[in-house]
Amino acid sequence: MSARILDGRSIAQEIRREVRLEVGELTKRTGSVPCLATVLVGNDPASTTYVRNKVRACEEVGIVSVRIDLPADLSQEALLHEIARLNRDPSVHAVLVQLPLPPHISERRVLEAVLPGKDVDGFHPSNLGGLLAGSPLFVASTPLGILELLTRSNVAVEGKHAVIVGWSVVVGKPTAFLLLQQQATVTICHIKTRDLGFHTRQADILVVAAGKPGLVTGSMVKEGAVVIDVGVNRLADGGIVGDVSFSEVAEKVSLITPVPGGVGPMTVAMLLKNTVQACRLACGAAGRHGVEVVR
Ligand code: NAP
Repeated sequence: MSARILDGRSIAQEIRREVRLEVGELTKRTGSVPCLATVLVGNDPASTTYVRNKVRACEEVGIVSVRIDLPADLSQEALLHEIARLNRDPSVHAVLVQLPLPPHISERRVLEAVLPGKDVDGFHPSNLGGLLAGSPLFVASTPLGILELLTRSNVAVEGKHAVIVGWSVVVGKPTAFLLLQQQATVTICHIKTRDLGFHTRQADILVVAAGKPGLVTGSMVKEGAVVIDVGVNRLADGGIVGDVSFSEVAEKVSLITPVPGGVGPMTVAMLLKNTVQACRLACGAAGRHGVEVVR
C-alpha cells in the first residue's frame, strides 16, 4: 500500500480536545453550558448506536445532552409537538433529529420544524439555502468534517478537481458546495452519470458518498489522488465497509480515509463544534454568525 491514511479518529480526537476547552471557556464567560437534544424515533439498531455515540461524545467534552427516545408508531403531529417544545426551551441550544424517520413521518416536514438557530445538523432549508447564498448558521457535520479533515491534513483544495459521487442533501450537495467555495473545480456524479469511472479518474480529490460497497475500484482512480470514503455499509457478518475497494485503491492514491475511522469520527466532532456554536448564538456570544462560506 502506498497511500497515507487520513486518520479521522486522531484528528477528531484533537478537535474534541479543542471543543472541551471551548466549552469551559464559554461556560465561564456566559454561565451557559451547551446543550444538545437528540431525538430518536423507534429503535433502529444503527440509529440507536449513532445516538449513543453522540451522547457519549457530548459527555466527554462537557456538553449536556438530553436524549429523547420516542416510539416508532409516534404520530407526525406528536413529533412536531416535541420539536416545538425543544425549540422553545432556552436551556436546549441544539436539536438533532436522528434520521431515518419511520415511513409514516415526513422527514422534510420534521426537519423544517427545527429552529434554524438550533439546527446543528444543517438540514433546515434556511441553512441549506444559506450555504448557497451566504453565511449559513450551520452546515451539516459530515461535509464540514470532510473539509476539516482535508484542511488539517494539509490538502490544498484551491484549483483542484474535486469529484463527488452522490448528491444527497446530507452529504453530496453540501460537500460539493463547500469545495466549490474553496475554489475547487467540482463535478457531481449521481445514478444517471454515464461512465462513472471516466469522471472519478479525473479527480484530484474524490469524495464517495453513495452507500454502495465496492463502487469505486482501483481502475477508477488517478495515481496520487486524495480519496475520502464517506460510505458506511454493514455486511452480513457484521463488518462495516465503505464505498471504495480500500486495498486496491490505496495502492494508487496518495491519501485515503479508512472505514471505519475516517469520516465517521469527524462527523461527530463537527456536531460537537456546531453545538458549541449554537450555544454561542443563543447567548449572543458568537463572534460571527455560523460558517463563513461566501468569498
Ligand atoms: P443517500 O441519500 O442514499 O445518497 C446516495 C447518493 O449516491 C445518491 O445521490 C445516489 O444518486 C448516489 N449513488 C448511488 N449509487 C450510485 C452509483 N452507482 N453511481 C453514482 N451515484 C450513485 O445516502 P447519503 O445519506 O448521502 O449517504 C451516503 C453514504 O454515506 C451512506 O453509506 C451513508 O451511510 C454514509 N454516511 C456516512 C456518514 C459518516 O459520518 N461517515 C454520514 C452520512 C452518511 P441518485 O440520488 O441519483 O440515486
